[in-house]
Amino acid sequence: MPTALEVLAEEASTCTKCKLASAGRTQVVFGMGNPEADLMFVGEGPGAEEDKQGLPFVGRSGKLLDKVMFEELDCKRDRVWICNVVKCRPPGNRDPEPDEIDACRPWLERQIELIQPKVVITLGNFATKLLLETKEGITKLRGKVYPFRSGVLIPTFHPAAVLRGGGEQLAQMRSDFIRAKKALEQ
Ligand code: URA
Repeated sequence: MPTALEVLAEEASTCTKCKLASAGRTQVVFGMGNPEADLMFVGEGPGAEEDKQGLPFVGRSGKLLDKVMFEELDCKRDRVWICNVVKCRPPGNRDPEPDEIDACRPWLERQIELIQPKVVITLGNFATKLLLETKEGITKLRGKVYPFRSGVLIPTFHPAAVLRGGGEQLAQMRSDFIRAKKALEQ
């Protein structure tokens, strides 16, 4: 018997609810990791490499995510769930548009319902603004822990922004991950 999450992934794999379905996606990037994870990462949307492999965060940003996850949380991908706000690649890596985010939201909401993470780490502006339902930017929002569903939400910078931004942002990302570790231990 497939699990509810596997059924959801199967349904999502043929999704045509927004224009990204016909904008050159190779495949839907549903998410990966442990369906019983206490920790969920939510990014923005698949890039070229993710679209090709069908897996989230497998390019340069993903390498940084893996590194900080390992160094600060002492864990690898098989213990967490990783997904994105939009499940299909926006052409040319443009930002996802409001109608695409709205159309895709039910997939993310179902993932959260089924996995029931204790801690959600949002990576960057799109995931943070969507899930905290705010217009405030990531620089202002990060550094704190927010109540979220049955657990907490911890916003941090998107790894791509850290790769561009350098040392200070990386240090802040690390401190956000440490915040998550503490929340997971509670
Ligand atoms: N950036 C994202 O936001 N998500 C990915 O899966 C890859 C890069």
